[in-house]
Order: sequence, then structure tokens, then C-alpha cells
Amino acid sequence: MKTAPESCRAFPRAPLCAPWLRICLALPLTIALANAVGCARGTSAGATASPAPKSESAAAPATPEAAPPDSTPLPHIDSKRAFQYAREVTAFGPRYMGSENHKKLEHYILDHLKGDQVEDDAFTADTVEGKFPVRNIIAKFPGTRDGIIVILGHYDTVYPLRNSGFVGANDGGSSTAILLEYANQLRGKTRDGYSVWLVWTDGEEAVRQWSDTDSLYGTRHLAEKWEKDGTLKKIKALMVMDMIGDADLNIDRNTKGAPWLLDLIYEAAVRGGYQSHFYARQGPDEDDHIPFYTRGVPTADLIDFDYGYNNVFWHSPQDTIDKLSPKSFEIVGNTILETIHLLDRR
Ligand SMILES: [Zn+2]
Repeated sequence: MKTAPESCRAFPRAPLCAPWLRICLALPLTIALANAVGCARGTSAGATASPAPKSESAAAPATPEAAPPDSTPLPHIDSKRAFQYAREVTAFGPRYMGSENHKKLEHYILDHLKGDQVEDDAFTADTVEGKFPVRNIIAKFPGTRDGIIVILGHYDTVYPLRNSGFVGANDGGSSTAILLEYANQLRGKTRDGYSVWLVWTDGEEAVRQWSDTDSLYGTRHLAEKWEKDGTLKKIKALMVMDMIGDADLNIDRNTKGAPWLLDLIYEAAVRGGYQSHFYARQGPDEDDHIPFYTRGVPTADLIDFDYGYNNVFWHSPQDTIDKLSPKSFEIVGNTILETIHLLDRR
């Protein structure tokens, strides 16, 4: 997740740059303001399961007009298992690029993917702090339909915080863990729908200070590679998981994304009864989806960038496992699996 309060380009959590956010939360019933900043919670659309809520800004995509009734049961991940993964990942300690713990975590992830179709996207990143090995790990779960749904989540922790006691339970840990649980849900059968690729991304964090050139090392490399080999054209949707384990879960509507996909995720959340955890805030933000977003891929960044009061646990030694909850893994996990189901039906 980016670290650029100086520019206020991110969701403005820092006290210096949060006026609209505070107003938004303080006056959720002010209709004009809600229209302006998208206070989706509590709207009539969010309170009903049908039809799908659509934001005012979204150009409604071509939803099949005569789709048959959907009687498929809602998906359920094993949220306790996902939480246990987060606990184990965090127990490795700091897992910044180039560290021994990072290598251990690579092996941990690969151990969980034995028997799956796994690819590496490995290279050396030349950074302001020197050269680092970077390794995106890709697990592919084939489907019968032509096209790919990609889910990304970073597994590295913050290099500049390597000696601070920062272990990234939520920031790095939760994303690693939920992808491992997705793999459990996907393996063992050919999907009746799109192929799903899971990518544990590396080098998401800046090595010094967030900028266009010091951040997103793994995904910048992967997006370029997939652009060259034609993969990008096959991607129907790309969703990023980041900081999704916070026990006080409020997923932001990151406006740097495809409106129809953000709406589809909300529809999936409504189906599971989870809508109160989605989109109370909105704003543009930079995360692992950006190198794909800028290339025209339909993306959505699922992040709760309000971690502790005023985001105090973010990039702090207090980002520890006790701040996370299995319930949050359930909310995000089930919602994303349902989103995949909805994508398959489109
Ligand atoms: Zn971060």
C-alpha cells in the first residue's frame, strides 16, 4: 500500500488530509454529500438483495437481460483456516524483499501449492536501495470458458521497517493467507467458468519512499510481461486483496478501478449480507492493480485503509495478528468467490 500522505493522493486517512472523509462519515444522511462522495452504506440499494446496486457514476455494463434465476448456493471459505494461515505467515517475522524470512515464506506458499499449476515470474529489481530478487508466484486453476480472472495479493513486508519489529499481519499477511484459502477452494476440478489465476505478488512495498518508480516492483514487471505475451487481453477482471483482515472491516471503494466491477463486488456482498462492510468511503488509491488499471484491464482493489483509529496500525509494529479476525476473512473471501461466480454468469 502506498505511503504518500504528502500528496494526499491516497485515501486521506492522515489527520492533515481527511476533511471530506470525516464529513462523509459524520453526515451519512446528507443526500447531496452522499451523491458527491459515494456514502453507499445505508442506501436503499444496499438494503435489498435485488436488483443489483449501481453507483451513480457507473456506466451499467451489459448485464444479460434474461439471465435465468441463480439458485447456486453462496460460497463459503474456511475462514478459520485462512486466519490460521495469516497467523503462520506473520510468525515468520519481517518478510521484506531479499530477507531469509522472505525465502521461507516463498517455500511456505509453494508447499501449499503442491500439485497445482504454478509459475514463477522472477527477476532482479534495481532499486534506490540496491538490487533485490523479486518473485511473483502464480497458481493457475483452469476453467472451461475462454478468459481469465486474476486475484492478486502481496506477500512482502515493508523494507524500511525491517528493523522496527514490523511483521505485517494485515499488510502482507492477510493477503497471502486469503489467496492460500482461495487455492483450497479452487483446486481439484476444472472450473465451470473462467480460469482463475492467483498471484502472490512481491515487491509491492516501496524500499524507501512510495513513488512511481519505488513501489509495485512485482506487478509493474508482471503487467509489462503480460502485455507483451498477450495475456492482458484475456483478463476479464483483476482483483487485488490488501489489508483485508482488520477485525473492524470497512472495504473502501477505490475509484481507480472499473465501476462495473466495483458494483459487481458490492452485489456479491449484498448476496452474502456483508454490504455494511463495503464502500462507506471512496477515493482514488494506488496499489498492485495500478500497472494493470493503466493498461485498460478491468480492476478492483479491495483494501481497508482505515486500520485502527486514524489508520495508526498501518506500517506500524502494531500491525499484529490480534488486530485481525476470521470473520473478516469470511466476509472478503465469500464475497470474492461470489463475485467470481457472478463473473462466470455474465
Ligand atoms: Zn503496506
